[in-house]
Amino acid sequence: MTDNYCMGNIQKLHIKDMLISSSVAKQFSDLSVDQLNNSCLKCEFKYFCGGGCRARSVMVNKNLYQKDPYCKLYFNYYYKETEFMTYEK
Ligand code: SF4
Repeated sequence: MTDNYCMGNIQKLHIKDMLISSSVAKQFSDLSVDQLNNSCLKCEFKYFCGGGCRARSVMVNKNLYQKDPYCKLYFNYYYKETEFMTYEK
């Protein structure tokens, strides 16, 4: 992860205080799949998946708002798990 997402020094601050005072923590708690990239916005599974893991997105895409590089895995999982909804009458 990059320093851009550092919430503080765990040896100096209690994690509870970091979660309350850190702008990074606020950024993540306010983050919704509706703010992510176009692929996720159009995805039928976005409210199940949530766009995947933000850490993987940053590591691979250098961008918090891109889809998780494991998107295909998530998509296939939700597709398979909801298949019955499409075909059941
Ligand atoms: S399955 Fe892929 S495109 Fe759909 S919300 Fe998840 S990461 Fe985004």
